[in-house]
Amino acid sequence: MTNNDIEKLKDGYEKQIFDLRQLFEISKSLNSTLDYGILIESILYTIMGQMKVQKAALYAKKGIDSTCFNLHRNYKGFEIRHDLDYSIAENAPAMRTFARESRCWTLGELSERFGDLGGLEPLEPMAPCLIVPLKAKGVVNGLILLGEPIVSEDFTEYEKEYLLNIAILASIAINNAFLFEMTTTDMMTKLRMKHYFYTVLIDKMEESAFSEKPLSVIMSDIDHFKKFNDTYGHSCGDEVLKRVAKLIQNQTRSVDVAARYGGEEFCMLLPDTDALGAANIAERIRSGIEELSFEYDGQTMSVTLSLGVAQYDQTRDLSGKSIIDRADKALYEAKQGGRNKVAVAR
Ligand code: GH3
Ligand code: MG
Ligand code: MG
Repeated sequence: MTNNDIEKLKDGYEKQIFDLRQLFEISKSLNSTLDYGILIESILYTIMGQMKVQKAALYAKKGIDSTCFNLHRNYKGFEIRHDLDYSIAENAPAMRTFARESRCWTLGELSERFGDLGGLEPLEPMAPCLIVPLKAKGVVNGLILLGEPIVSEDFTEYEKEYLLNIAILASIAINNAFLFEMTTTDMMTKLRMKHYFYTVLIDKMEESAFSEKPLSVIMSDIDHFKKFNDTYGHSCGDEVLKRVAKLIQNQTRSVDVAARYGGEEFCMLLPDTDALGAANIAERIRSGIEELSFEYDGQTMSVTLSLGVAQYDQTRDLSGKSIIDRADKALYEAKQGGRNKVAVAR
């Protein structure tokens, strides 16, 4: 072996050690969040940082009940036409193959295998150079698309292998985030559950005490819902709960947390919002519910909602329970005041 050979070998090993260290760092970073939205962005930035490419994009499911994969809005370099539908069905033949085979694919390799693109036709206008499936426990939970490498013609086998390693780490993190979302989401209303709400509340109270930015909580409860169930039946009541939950979700921002607190009780956590702002949102929700009419089994019906608002007060609210109790008390006042009302805690 010449000195030159030894140098080359040494360089090769050094690169491998460097890449393994990188993988370790990526693993730490991807496992530092269970928030699905943050995670997806972090995977995309990791890929762009690691591979010298001008174009990168990621496909993932929008939520736990999605049946298709959507192009994540933070793509880089690809030209996207807004009149085209880029979504891919989860049961596309190519997706089923990805679940069985761990490898990267080019569009050419896909058409060789499937004749067409195996359900991945929506990718065609983007003309990705490489498709890397994200797969955890034999289930595909995303796709990474890459444009041409900047420095060379094509990806080397070593680079593809490295990409597959990143893909394994990314898909395990996505799987964990999915499991977390599933265990903290009420499957009927698709709102978060009480224990998740409470955990975020404690975090946000600490943040608010530190930043001195306001924070508010809204507690709400459907009026005379027992009678509604008795009159129209429980499954009709369930439909109403879904519609009310949807309206609440639509009337809150992505930084807010809307949760199903109990049977027909919903709560909201509104960062950066004072009592007046929260009362306005509560009023918007109240009037929105009042205006909703439901068609069920040929009948038209409606419900009303009472809401209680409390702003976090760091001198009084020494626990999460305290602010929830104050919002609950305001809700009780709204009920006593005739229902279909908003009351603010003093
Ligand atoms: P109020 O105006 O004082 O809130 O009267 P209410 O009848 O709504 O109050 P109460 O708390 O006594 O009753 C709540 C009812 O909500 C009892 C139950 O029939 C109904 N409920 C709770 N969870 C569900 C659910 O998952 N589905 C349906 N359909 N009904 C539910
Ligand atoms: Mg109730
Ligand atoms: Mg009620």
